[in-house]
Amino acid sequence: MARVPATVTIDTETCKGCVLCVDVCPPRVLVMTTAEVNAKGYRYPVLLDGCTGCELCAKICPDFCFEVYRGGPGGAGVEMQGDPRGAGAGGVR
Ligand code: SF4
Ligand code: SF4
Repeated sequence: MARVPATVTIDTETCKGCVLCVDVCPPRVLVMTTAEVNAKGYRYPVLLDGCTGCELCAKICPDFCFEVYRGGPGGAGVEMQGDPRGAGAGGVR
């Protein structure tokens, strides 16, 4: 069975650099920046090739930085945003 292409968008300015997403990603296609930081001074993840659209990053990120899309980059992908886990679960956005 062919794998469905997938990608994620990352709100790098909201990221607090906790690295949870990097550790949870099964194909290990998220890597933290080494020198670049966001406006708050945190390193943030960047996406390599090979995302499977598993949504684990979106589910684990405390700051809801991820949106997951299936259907291929640049196409009319279907947004598969992770479970928000209810208001207040991740603190003030
Ligand atoms: S959706 Fe899954 S494979 Fe893609 S970046 Fe997130 S954790 Fe990794
Ligand atoms: S889980 Fe969210 S806050 Fe933590 S490093 Fe990844 S994108 Fe940033």
